[in-house]
Amino acid sequence: MNKCAIALGSNLGDSLATLENSLAVLGNTPGIDLLATSSWYQTKPVSEVPQPDYLNGCVTLNAQQTPEELLVLLQAIELQFGRVRKEKWGARTLDLDMLLYGDHQLDTPNLTIPHPRMSERAFVLVPLAEIAPDWQEPTSGKAIAQLAAKVDQSGVELYS
Ligand code: AMP
Repeated sequence: MNKCAIALGSNLGDSLATLENSLAVLGNTPGIDLLATSSWYQTKPVSEVPQPDYLNGCVTLNAQQTPEELLVLLQAIELQFGRVRKEKWGARTLDLDMLLYGDHQLDTPNLTIPHPRMSERAFVLVPLAEIAPDWQEPTSGKAIAQLAAKVDQSGVELYS
């Protein structure tokens, strides 16, 4: 079993329902056991393109899948919830990112773990620090709570 952390985000449609339903699908997937789910946070988009606020959260889980298998699964769930890829940084019904996979470090053309931008993103670090404060991000060797304390959290508000 490999402990993983996944970030969830949505800013199109009924975001709360999309996030909760996608978590239910993830939790019902064979080989995956959900461990902890963060609160949901309303966050200001980090984007050049004007777009609505996001709802973001994180989940930790144990997975029998390899990182590549897990990525395929996450992308299938994004599609199931109607994600349409228009612009790279544009609004989306559902975005699922693999943040951490144990203490693995991986850099292939379609998968980088730890997620390369997680250490700068308050909308990832604040929810992750709620459920996994002591987990060490292997690139920096710093605990998630330490990383969260270093970023500007002003655009991240507790939603539910
Ligand atoms: P995005 O549009 O932000 O969801 O980016 C999706 C693309 O990022 C896909 O083509 C993935 O192959 C790639 N990718 C690289 N590393 C990761 C990761 N850790 N989690 C999710 N997607 C990743």
